[in-house]
Amino acid sequence: MIRPRLFSIPLAAALLIGCTPVTPGPTPVAAVATPVPSSTLLDDVRILSGDDMAGRDTGSAGGEKARDYIVSRLEAMGVQPASFGRLQPFEAQGRTREGVKRFNGVNIVGLIPGTRIADRYIVVTAHYDHVGVNDGQIYHGADDNASGVATMLELARRLKAQPPEHSVLIVALDGEERGLLGAREFVKAPPVPLSAVSLNLNFDMTARAETDGHLWVTGTYQNPVLRPVLQPVPAQGRVSFAFGKDTPQDTGENNWVDASDHAAFHAAGVPFLYMGVDYHPDYHRPSDTYDRIDPAIFTSATELAIAGFHALDKALDR
Ligand SMILES: [Zn+2]
Repeated sequence: MIRPRLFSIPLAAALLIGCTPVTPGPTPVAAVATPVPSSTLLDDVRILSGDDMAGRDTGSAGGEKARDYIVSRLEAMGVQPASFGRLQPFEAQGRTREGVKRFNGVNIVGLIPGTRIADRYIVVTAHYDHVGVNDGQIYHGADDNASGVATMLELARRLKAQPPEHSVLIVALDGEERGLLGAREFVKAPPVPLSAVSLNLNFDMTARAETDGHLWVTGTYQNPVLRPVLQPVPAQGRVSFAFGKDTPQDTGENNWVDASDHAAFHAAGVPFLYMGVDYHPDYHRPSDTYDRIDPAIFTSATELAIAGFHALDKALDR
């Protein structure tokens, strides 16, 4: 997530943001009991944010290790590669603390064929890179964005068991923190025509919903027809949807329209929705670690995201 700064915001500012009053979300229709945490879901976050992944910087050994892990997970689930294969390598100029640098990144792509409308696609994205090691400290990126990748893998697992109505591309993007590099590459050279993509659903930071109890949905201002689709989705445990961070009145770091990979899809004219939690004091700090994630909250946020996916999958292209 780059909202909108590349590296850490000062702790005081982060705390302040956490205290800023936000527009209340819709009243949850009916909260259901906290779902039982899935060990696979939690394992994925723990493994991807481990010390040996070294913050998963684009082009780094840790990034490669994370990539191998995600590929092995998709292969084990039997998620087929895209038309161009499993991997989409790219080279691009990206941002660093020291200035612009050339990065070698690799997107990972899987395809789950749809049952009702197989020639229309929902592209689910989550970036697996983070900002690596800075000043000798590993930036673990457990929430940002090992969590979103884990949520996406859990969705893929469910869709393999019960196929979706649309065909679904499962895309773990690289180079997000360096300037949405992987997303820009994907949109430039997609495995299916962008005109066949009904929606980009982007997960970035799905774990730390304890800040305000919300998984925020950004993009319904730009795509208003999608809001009534998600509004009836009931809260899961202590986590409910809130809508916003996308209007002209939402300024600076409170506007998330360009804050993550969905921005590349939006710029290419593809309808998008972004799901992610609000800022927390560990955002873009070495302390964004696995042990700070509440398993019940993360599991609830994941269940909510998956319920949101199903609502969209059912409603789109009718
Ligand atoms: Zn980030």
